Amino acid sequence: MSEDIQLIVDGKRLDGRDFNELRPIKIEAGILKRADGSCYIEMGKNKVVAAVYGPREVHPRHLQDPSKAVVRYRYNMAPFSVEERKRPGPDRRSVEISKVSREAFEPVIMKELFPRSGIDIFVEVLQADAGTRTACINAATVALVDAGIPMKGLITSVAVAKADGVLVLDPMKEEDNYGEADVPFAFLIRNGKIESIALLQMDGRLSAEELKKATQMAKEGAMKIYELQREAIMKKYSSEEIEEQVI
Ligand code: UDP
Repeated sequence: MSEDIQLIVDGKRLDGRDFNELRPIKIEAGILKRADGSCYIEMGKNKVVAAVYGPREVHPRHLQDPSKAVVRYRYNMAPFSVEERKRPGPDRRSVEISKVSREAFEPVIMKELFPRSGIDIFVEVLQADAGTRTACINAATVALVDAGIPMKGLITSVAVAKADGVLVLDPMKEEDNYGEADVPFAFLIRNGKIESIALLQMDGRLSAEELKKATQMAKEGAMKIYELQREAIMKKYSSEEIEEQVI
């Protein structure tokens, strides 16, 4: 809790950011040859890779749905991604993150276009510093677009935390660990406008007023991330055009 460590010093966060400032973000689409779509993202010290496969045949077959595609999402943390070695394999936390992230994407992916098939999204955390689920969702969105999966919009994710009594955008590890609340959001953004909330979780407590303010902060942060996601996608496609011309 926040009495253990001071998170706000002279009106600034420990890494010098303003309350409503995102960490530096880097996004690159199409980094893996064998996946149908892929993306690498850095959000602050988080480093994440997303790979998308599909639409493809579903195995085991009894999981097929004759009316629409089945979407699967696997969140995984590398053993070396955190300070104390993470035991390999799924745990309660990764199963939960995989589930809520899949649920964020399911209504957006046009599953009915691909009956009996599967769309598999894998996200691998290489380095973690809080907000990995949000970084993974942002990478997964770009990888889905890169794979050519038809979607109704883009999903963009960012968290808001309460640290030393104030709301802060995109919390890093210290704010996540010692803050009073951590609230990851994901939004469906369509034609440049936030249309709905695709994911909302809350660890800790916020008043109704604070939650309203946190939502507003997250929306503003998400719009900035959305622009970077779009840029990464445009960059990938324009470089493909150049490659085609050279060939
Ligand atoms: N973390 C860790 N070991 C674990 C799980 C998490 O060190 O086994 C760290 C990691 O930096 C992670 C942070 O705790 O980013 C916050 O985890 P949380 O469950 O809130 O999910 P996240 O914020 O990464 O989506």
